[in-house]
Amino acid sequence: KGKKGPDFIRQIINHDLETGKNGTSVHTRFPPEPNGYLHIGHAKSICLNFGIAEDYEGGKYNLRFDDTNPEKEETEYVKSIIRDIEWLGFDLTDRIFYASDYFEQFYEYALQLVKAGKAYVDSLSAEEIREYRGTPTTPGKNSPYRDRSVEENLEMLENMKNGKYKDGEHILRAKIDMSHVNMNMRDPAIYRIKNATHHRTGDKWHIYPMYDFAHGYEDAIEGITHSICTLEFENHRPLYDWFLDNVTAPCHPQQIEFARLNLTNTVMSKRYLLELVTSGLVDGWDDPRMPTISGLRRKGVTPSALKRFAREIGVSKVNSLIDMNFFDFIIREELNETADRVMAVLDPLKVVITNYDEGKSELVDAENNPQAEDAGNRQIPFSREIYIERDDFMEEPPKKFFRLAPGKEVRLKHAYFITCNDVIKDKEGNITELHCTYDPETKGGNAPDGRKVKGTLHWVSAEHAVDAEVRLYEPLFTLEDMSDMEEGKVYKDYLNPASLVILENCKVEPSLADAVPGNPYQFLRKGYFSADSRYHTSEKPVFNRVVALKDSWAK
Ligand code: ATP
Ligand code: MG
Ligand code: MG
Repeated sequence: KGKKGPDFIRQIINHDLETGKNGTSVHTRFPPEPNGYLHIGHAKSICLNFGIAEDYEGGKYNLRFDDTNPEKEETEYVKSIIRDIEWLGFDLTDRIFYASDYFEQFYEYALQLVKAGKAYVDSLSAEEIREYRGTPTTPGKNSPYRDRSVEENLEMLENMKNGKYKDGEHILRAKIDMSHVNMNMRDPAIYRIKNATHHRTGDKWHIYPMYDFAHGYEDAIEGITHSICTLEFENHRPLYDWFLDNVTAPCHPQQIEFARLNLTNTVMSKRYLLELVTSGLVDGWDDPRMPTISGLRRKGVTPSALKRFAREIGVSKVNSLIDMNFFDFIIREELNETADRVMAVLDPLKVVITNYDEGKSELVDAENNPQAEDAGNRQIPFSREIYIERDDFMEEPPKKFFRLAPGKEVRLKHAYFITCNDVIKDKEGNITELHCTYDPETKGGNAPDGRKVKGTLHWVSAEHAVDAEVRLYEPLFTLEDMSDMEEGKVYKDYLNPASLVILENCKVEPSLADAVPGNPYQFLRKGYFSADSRYHTSEKPVFNRVVALKDSWAK
């Protein structure tokens, strides 16, 4: 779409549509295994698959749960996956499918293969099967069970299905070529025995299909035209095609591979993410440091920022590592356009305005978002005591320090100019408050005599401010490329101890008590922040930093 011209996948689709290879419209699918929460890599795949379907006239997309493995799959994951995809903005009405609904059909295809002499029941042990497979440079050898008769195979397969055997006792394999250069073609497994309970089919089945056997059939049954998957399946494609070519399938989808998304300073494998959750190293699957869609949502990343990111990185045939800073840059670009500006003081220092009447307060006018025309204004309270950021004051400032210092004048955003007269300290010499005077003529931020001030500070009225907690996040891991771990180390050795910093004594403007999770703000001069969906209440606001402020994406 747009300036760059079609990517290589859309080029293939365009060509297939022109030649009528797989019909006249495109049908894609996203096939997660419900064994974990979705991560940003999945988001890339969803945006690609569903985005293609939306781009083409008559295009369709399916969400298909690839729930062919009974052991690790749970309905909690099914629910979270649906929620995450709907949150991204894709309508799933009538678009949800389960591979487990095709178990009968898979079995029928297996019978076709057996009857045609193209599949057999093997009784070697798993270890023997590995030995017999050979290596990439040496051929494998045939199993002694390879020439079982069709009748015997049919009978044994039936028994496997009905639970007559123990796990691992037999296995159904395709009969292809034990010396094939592509190891995947050396009589790959079709069904393994698992006497396990499935989340949807219960105890009905005692055999479960292997991915390579089932996947193409799932696609064909649903009428998928283009089956888009990640690069590691490239040398499985001959097998994908073989299984489809050797039964009477409804159609033959085209498998296309693209490079998976890898991000700096994070892990993306569901196994690692699950371990982080179960070991309590993070606060659930939706911990804002997690690369999960739910974690990003909780942190305050918007669906459109995520989609924009997916569009910007595009698709490629070569694996690469995307810099997390680029994602942050995209989020910042997005939120700069959409987020309301508010004032929050993260490390408060009290300022008493000595010439402002005690007990008095007033409202000053504040623009919500200078980047959005119709964002409107709001009124914020100003009074004799306010808080500013502690590091916006220096007792002995260096030359180019334009913020507050003894004898210096600065502007309070949306309010008045103030000048610092006195620095109040406790017995240990810590600064406890500043005494300043304001110029009543400068309301709104300009002096009638035309005098200029260099610094503009954010602030909140002490009497009106709400106490809040603010959580700052850094990457979860210290190693940029987590595939570069040193020998003998594991991913947990690279956990970043500073990945979460909690600031407990922040002061925020009163409107923020009503903040809604998922609706991020710009805290002026501090970054973008969003109310935490788990801990935020109007009595005790809790904010997550979505991303810090920075001007540009510089590498
Ligand atoms: P894991 O290896 O961590 O279990 P997976 O790829 O097996 O992840 P699935 O649930 O099978 O997880 O993934 C569903 C779809 O998402 C697949 O089509 C897969 O290719 C795609 N996908 C998974 N990870 C990424 C990624 N990092 N980038 C792009 N697509 C991905
Ligand atoms: Mg997997
Ligand atoms: Mg998978």
